[in-house]
Amino acid sequence: MIRVTVWGENVHENKNQKVRDIYPQGMHGCIAEALRKDSELTVQTATLEQPEHGLTSAVLEATDVLTWWGHMAHGQVQDAIVDRVQQRVLQGMGLIVLHSGHYSKIFKRMLGTSCSLTWREAGEKERLWVCNPGHPIAQGIDRYFELENEEMYGEPFGIANPEEVVFISWFQGGEVFRSGCTFRRGNGRIFYFRPGHEMYPTYHHAQVQRVIRNAVHWAAPQGSRWIDSCPNIPVEKAPEKIVHHGPTMQHPGPAGRR
Ligand code: ZN
Repeated sequence: MIRVTVWGENVHENKNQKVRDIYPQGMHGCIAEALRKDSELTVQTATLEQPEHGLTSAVLEATDVLTWWGHMAHGQVQDAIVDRVQQRVLQGMGLIVLHSGHYSKIFKRMLGTSCSLTWREAGEKERLWVCNPGHPIAQGIDRYFELENEEMYGEPFGIANPEEVVFISWFQGGEVFRSGCTFRRGNGRIFYFRPGHEMYPTYHHAQVQRVIRNAVHWAAPQGSRWIDSCPNIPVEKAPEKIVHHGPTMQHPGPAGRR
């Protein structure tokens, strides 16, 4: 079983009737419901207004993959929680950052770059091209799929060079954008996926749901946990016996001094 926590800022849904009409359970509720159709996943949600944003140490310890949607309240996310999420990603937790999450504290922290882009809200068509058809995240998707109405995001996208680009979007207005990108930080796998403006029913779209589900499987922790401290390995614990070693603080050496 892969344990998924779907994090949602949940602010637009409470402020804007149009958004609430599209997502009565919140965007996080829609994404979670779609993931629950996969019997290999156990899914819970967490939102900004909860204590510790719903991301307590216990919750994160029990999370294999975290998905993140935020927009207007990035600044309200406490730095201590960002530290905690970063630590878990370095240990191996998967992180899937959605749409305007490109400007979240956690995404900028993990990438170390501006994560800026160009944008336009005109309800235009988006065509997402699969540019890496062998990638696990692209499975079940044809050469491309289209969203009739979306916000435009355009290049240049201020990200660190992705390890892999899985999708590139073309917009009706002519711009293009690297809309599905993978990264690794420490033991953790990160996937950024562009669609998901709150004014459109994007997370109800079957192929968008398919991509997110594929990404959860891809981002699930692999192998052992990252060593995130700096333990000392004393001379007597070295894999090979060290007979002649130079002076150190603990072992002044044969002469006793330098
Ligand atoms: Zn948006």
